[in-house]
Amino acid sequence: MGDIFVIAEHRNGEVREITFEMLQKAAELGQALACGVTAVLLAGSGEAFAEALSKRADRVLVFEDERLKTYNSDLYTGILTDLLKERQPFLTLMGHTSWGMDYAPALAVRAGTPLVTDATDILLKDGHPQVIRQMYSGKLFSRVSFAPSRGYMITVRSGAFKVDEAVERAAEVVFMDLPRNLQPPRREFLKFEDTASGDVDITQADLLVSVGRGVGEADNISLVRELAELLGGTLSCSRPVVDKNWLPKYHQVGTSGKSVRPKVYLALGISGAFQHVAGITGAGCVIAVNKDKKAPIFRVADYGIADDLFNVVEALTKVVRG
Ligand SMILES: Cc1cc2nc3c(=O)[nH]c(=O)nc-3n(C[C@H](O)[C@H](O)[C@H](O)COP(=O)(O)OP(=O)(O)OC[C@H]3O[C@@H](n4cnc5c(N)ncnc54)[C@H](O)[C@@H]3O)c2cc1C
Repeated sequence: MGDIFVIAEHRNGEVREITFEMLQKAAELGQALACGVTAVLLAGSGEAFAEALSKRADRVLVFEDERLKTYNSDLYTGILTDLLKERQPFLTLMGHTSWGMDYAPALAVRAGTPLVTDATDILLKDGHPQVIRQMYSGKLFSRVSFAPSRGYMITVRSGAFKVDEAVERAAEVVFMDLPRNLQPPRREFLKFEDTASGDVDITQADLLVSVGRGVGEADNISLVRELAELLGGTLSCSRPVVDKNWLPKYHQVGTSGKSVRPKVYLALGISGAFQHVAGITGAGCVIAVNKDKKAPIFRVADYGIADDLFNVVEALTKVVRG
């Protein structure tokens, strides 16, 4: 049986957390299947990344080239197609990120490997992978099986697997040659544009009072802001609140906003879509208020209040004011 391959992601000189999350799951699957875990890194200069990866894999394959300093789907697809055809891994994991969504389908077609996207969990049945995926904004879970194949490919949702910091391996690091027939890319990386950071940094807050579309209208946000201030917390929000221009972008939590790690996260009128929840996997205690008792946010909440958020905001404000 071939190894489990994990395609590493990096940005601005750092290996992205999704890579470690995939390596964590790969290690668990590798143990059950008695196969090794190989991290695959494409980078401008591989050394620093390879060291971080080597603690979490049995082998690190590094493709090093100035053109790989930043992500390019043409180069990734070209290099990985050759690698997968040659090495025939049992399973290849990629992030269900802007990278993975971009190149995984083309890679699957070219490598002739079946692909299931956006896994929130991966199980094994009779030695073959099965994928858990969410449907209807997280209200249902489906279990997807592959038709039997020599190899499988899965993109993994950010935040699906918790990284065990204690695990340390010692991988062999192998520097690889680029395929000789690698075509010049048709796309060109221009620049990263970071979101404005504004006057609050939600990533540093111990208490976040977070507001979602359930707040109804812009004027109601002042009630939540007041509560956040009384509690000594910071105001954050879900994406629709930003899209509606009720709050600036730097308040947004989630995959296209910020990942946060407060001790307490109070979610008011937030449904719990995966793009939001992925941003709070590092939160200590999650308290959710939603008038729909079936809202997906309650699945990740430590405490849940099925009520109108305005009742809760009013009651809390009264208590804190004394
Ligand atoms: C590529 C992409 C990236 C995305 N990135 C992000 C991201 O970074 N962050 C993010 O948040 N979203 C992101 N989204 C959007 C995401 O899919 C959801 O649409 C969004 O998170 C929903 O926000 P919400 O929970 O505030 O709104 P809704 O899903 O509309 O939920 C509102 C909730 O409020 C409840 N409610 C209504 N009134 C009340 C009341 N009076 N009291 C209590 N509860 C009430 C409702 O029951 C409902 O559950 C992204 C989507 C895509 C496609």
